Amino acid sequence: MKPAFSICVYCGSRPGQQLSHTYAAEAVGRWIGENRGELVYGGGRTGLMGTVADATRAAGGRVVGIIPTALVGKEVANPLCDELHVVDTMHERKAMMGERADAFIALSGGIGTFEELFEIWTWRQLGYHDKPVGILNVAGYYDRMLDFVAHGVREGFMNDWQMTLVRIGREPEELLSALVDEARRHPSGDQLARVL
Ligand code: AMP
Repeated sequence: MKPAFSICVYCGSRPGQQLSHTYAAEAVGRWIGENRGELVYGGGRTGLMGTVADATRAAGGRVVGIIPTALVGKEVANPLCDELHVVDTMHERKAMMGERADAFIALSGGIGTFEELFEIWTWRQLGYHDKPVGILNVAGYYDRMLDFVAHGVREGFMNDWQMTLVRIGREPEELLSALVDEARRHPSGDQLARVL
């Protein structure tokens, strides 16, 4: 059966110090599964990545993992994925994640997560796609980063428009349903496949 939607989750390959990050990742996976959705993610079993994938599957969702060959051992490629794609490079991984998903959400994570979030955000700024992008700000984890982005607006390197391209929320279910609703209202074509 075709999934109701496909959402790409970016998150840490580590669990972080506070359990609130793990609980949020579980809530995200559960919501995807309960709503018969598909998770597109980095394909690992470690940290929050593994948590979100396990929770999605446990709730009946579909899991698509995309991992570069070089990281199969390091991030522990997840054999429980319904689809596991082992690709040659990081760029291939990110392009495929971008193409496969209807929407994107970043949970807590490290520089890999930041990089993926900023890339998909800038791709939207450039018109490479027009799919919804969200940041789940668990326990204020992203407060300082968002303050810095606001500093960039004040300094004239961007304007408020860039801030409208990302939806920020603290509640997993609320943010996920807003992103999926937005994706349904404005279905995006295959722009990414054409420009990448
Ligand atoms: P992290 O948030 O640093 O734990 O990384 C989360 C995910 O981002 C992992 O799947 C990493 O493989 C991925 N990642 C790490 N470095 C990069 C990079 N340079 N470009 C894109 N993704 C990365």
